[in-house]
Amino acid sequence: MAIRLLDDRVVSQIAAGEVVERPASVVKELVENALDAGASFVQIEIADSGRRRIQVNDDGSGIPVEEVPLAVMRHATSKLVTADDLSHIETLGFRGEALASVAAVSRLTVTSRYRDADVGVRLRIEGGELIEQATIGVPVGTIIAVENLFFNTPARKKFLKSDMTEKRVINQIVMNYAMAYPHVRFVLIHDDREVFRSLGTGNFADVVVKVVGLSQFRQMVEVSGQDVVRGHGGTIRVRGFVSEPNLNRKDRTRITLFVNGRAVQDNSLSYAVSQAYHTLLPKGRYPYGILLIQVPPEIVDVNVHPTKAEVRFEDASAVFAAVQRAVRDVILGYSQPSLANRHQTRPMDRDWDDDKPTRIGQMDFGFDIPDRADDEFSFGDNQRPAYTDEGEQPQRVRTLPVLRVLGQIGAAYIVTEGPAGMYLIDQHGAHQRILYESFRRVLEESDALESQPIETQTIDVSVAENRAIQANMDMLERLGFVLESFGINTYALRAVPVELTQTDIISGLAHLIERLQERIDPETLLMHLADVIAVKRGVIMPQEDMQALIRELEHTPSPKQDTFGETIILHFSAEQIARQFRN
Ligand code: ADP
Ligand code: MG
Repeated sequence: MAIRLLDDRVVSQIAAGEVVERPASVVKELVENALDAGASFVQIEIADSGRRRIQVNDDGSGIPVEEVPLAVMRHATSKLVTADDLSHIETLGFRGEALASVAAVSRLTVTSRYRDADVGVRLRIEGGELIEQATIGVPVGTIIAVENLFFNTPARKKFLKSDMTEKRVINQIVMNYAMAYPHVRFVLIHDDREVFRSLGTGNFADVVVKVVGLSQFRQMVEVSGQDVVRGHGGTIRVRGFVSEPNLNRKDRTRITLFVNGRAVQDNSLSYAVSQAYHTLLPKGRYPYGILLIQVPPEIVDVNVHPTKAEVRFEDASAVFAAVQRAVRDVILGYSQPSLANRHQTRPMDRDWDDDKPTRIGQMDFGFDIPDRADDEFSFGDNQRPAYTDEGEQPQRVRTLPVLRVLGQIGAAYIVTEGPAGMYLIDQHGAHQRILYESFRRVLEESDALESQPIETQTIDVSVAENRAIQANMDMLERLGFVLESFGINTYALRAVPVELTQTDIISGLAHLIERLQERIDPETLLMHLADVIAVKRGVIMPQEDMQALIRELEHTPSPKQDTFGETIILHFSAEQIARQFRN
């Protein structure tokens, strides 16, 4: 269908609003256009989290030369003609607004060659004005480059989220489309570094593995169901993967739903998914999963929200029931491993510990830490950890009695006295636990640990190390390491986490890179970071430092063991000591 300007009557019926509010929304719109054009390959290149440049190449139909100027006009679309068409939208786009909105706030270059044409055309538009138009030899398909986004709207620029957040949202959008369109080969590149690729084999499970990682995938079960829409004749198809009941989360945010190839937020449907688990989930816990829901286009209204993130169903309860039934079918057939058993395990035996290597190809830089079991364990003295998964505000709850520092033995253990006798504390383990818990808290609230610039050091790495660094660059960045590629297998290290002392920088980083080669998950990497930063055994600590450390430990969750399960505190009651003297 040719691109045409929508007439005013249709325009008035379109859910209007801001479509381009951030770099990630540009990525979303461009990817949707590529998919609507029938692309089998979509490459997304991002520079500087999208602030500098966003480019999307596709091998779709291309745009006829004479229509390219129209494509960037508001309300010009090839996907819709009449208001009636709004009731059965089968494309991702339909409003003809995205390219126009992007053109207005950036330097936009559209390069396209239509499938029947011998040559292509290139248009350059700045702030909405056409600057240049030229004929150009290119393969069939379209390349849209968006540079200097918001260059002419400084107010908007100011409100941009942090780079890390933006990257994460962009990654999520691309991965979502890769899952919903397994036949399409996606490549995502950030600052010349490929961070995600799907193969376009058409196999949905393959893409899900790429996105969630193998270990998490192994703990998911396949959903496949079909329901007839009453009084309609059409069918609702539900397929996907959901978590086993013994794996769960504190909220519903990890239930990713697609309706007719569109990622949507729909509280009622995510509720349907958790409902399907019935009594199998502990109270206040939710499953996670990815579901592709296919419904007849007539029964879904996508014209509800400007960013098209919400949909409305003609018969919402039918869709609700179909989703719930499909999930319940696999969940009920699933024999539930005893929850009680899990609770008897040591606190450190968490799900991700027994299943290495974990999160292969993991793209989740969100430090979405597997749910902690700690808050369900008592440490024998019934002290609650200082904060729980549910607690919004970390409260400084005491986790140990007040301890008075008496001294240090062997430059490794701090001798303290408490209400019930003597406590010997391993300085390294204690510090490791404290650091880890504080990092975790920081990462729950912000994107990255605090980083400090250092005098640039170049580091040479092996091919294997290089691969590990490349694959985990974002993760390292989240920890506060700023590494720049500096030739083949060489990096310039420009910043490190603030707590890392000068002398430990190289050895610490080397240790982490070694762990990365073992493909550990972000959680474990964080534990190792705490480990390399923590004060070493063999270091004589000044009294004030020991006091500060102990004071911190008194308020740290799980103070009795470090994150690797090693004992931190040995307790000798006065009675025990007395007994030793008596024989
Ligand atoms: P919409 O997608 O809602 O139609 P857009 O502003 O996103 O509006 O795009 C306008 C028109 O430009 C589309 O209808 C389509 O015809 C054309 N177009 C945009 N991107 C592409 C692309 N990657 N390949 C082919 N055609 C495209
Ligand atoms: Mg569009």
